[in-house]
Amino acid sequence: MLVIMKNDATEAQVRAVIREIERLGYRGLPVPGAQRTAVCIVGNQREVDDSRLLSLDGVKETIRVTKPYKLVSRETHPQPTVIAIGRVVIGAGKPVVMAGPCAVESEKQTLAIARMVKRYGAQVFRGGAFKPRSSPYTFQGLGEEGLKMLKRVREETGLPVVTEATDHDNIEMVEEYADIIQIGARNMQNYSLLRRAGLCRKPILLKRGFAATIEELLMSAEYIASEGNPNVILCERGIRTFSDNTRNTLDLSAIPSIKEVSHLPVVVDPSHAAGRREYVIALSRGAIAVGADGLLVEVHNDPVHALSDGRQSLYPSQFAELMKDVRAMNRLAEREK
Ligand code: PEP
Ligand code: MN
Repeated sequence: MLVIMKNDATEAQVRAVIREIERLGYRGLPVPGAQRTAVCIVGNQREVDDSRLLSLDGVKETIRVTKPYKLVSRETHPQPTVIAIGRVVIGAGKPVVMAGPCAVESEKQTLAIARMVKRYGAQVFRGGAFKPRSSPYTFQGLGEEGLKMLKRVREETGLPVVTEATDHDNIEMVEEYADIIQIGARNMQNYSLLRRAGLCRKPILLKRGFAATIEELLMSAEYIASEGNPNVILCERGIRTFSDNTRNTLDLSAIPSIKEVSHLPVVVDPSHAAGRREYVIALSRGAIAVGADGLLVEVHNDPVHALSDGRQSLYPSQFAELMKDVRAMNRLAEREK
């Protein structure tokens, strides 16, 4: 349930509502909006008796939230969430391109790719220092050394960086270095890690699990939001289907479906969906056409020798072509306004 406060409600009145919700045995989380503040009631198994709440000063009305996820639902927060990382704004209309290698391999490689993607127009640098690999015998990432290289990237290029936290042991360290913390597809339902991510002060990029429904993805985002971190960016990265022409099947319908029910921004990772660089540009165009708030793309200066996901990593010239398409689509969107 949502308790909608009057436009002129005071902070003290909002606090009184939260106290009353706690007295009833639930939690009350304020959801500030452009026009009014709402207080979202979480933790109730059954319908809440709203009679006491409605009699409190400053309360306008109560609204039942019909979805199992509350804080990330559009019912609670009708306006889209906009997340600003320095000058980079995600969710405000213009797609944001996050690009870089699958993994940070060395300082030289990382800086070379960062300079290149920046030159072509990327706004965020991606690169994993902790890698969740299918095989324990493959490259697992450089760990803190890799994070330090990402710090160098930010210092030199000014690009904010997104990098993955794979477990409780490294999330604190990742938060120290990252501008956006990635939670990977394999961890989408690691609920204790999600709760921990909810305590972070940095935005979380939450990737959809390869067998997860949209509702499950949103419930996972709810775990993060319910611990106090409202800045969640969802990421569609392909799901497992019978189709074996690509590594995963990119579910482009997820973007309008999520936007219908949630206010969170959604980006698309065409690289892990395709598994092959040949399809990445076409899928990126599709992603922008269906309303994605950004792209997360793997790019490498020497994909053939990449230590992970080289087959799906774009060559620099392909990334340049992709950015040309993105700009053309942005111009078209501007003209249509
Ligand atoms: C990645 O971004 O490199 C990655 C491992 O992604 P996912 O969790 O989607 O497989
Ligand atoms: Mn990868």
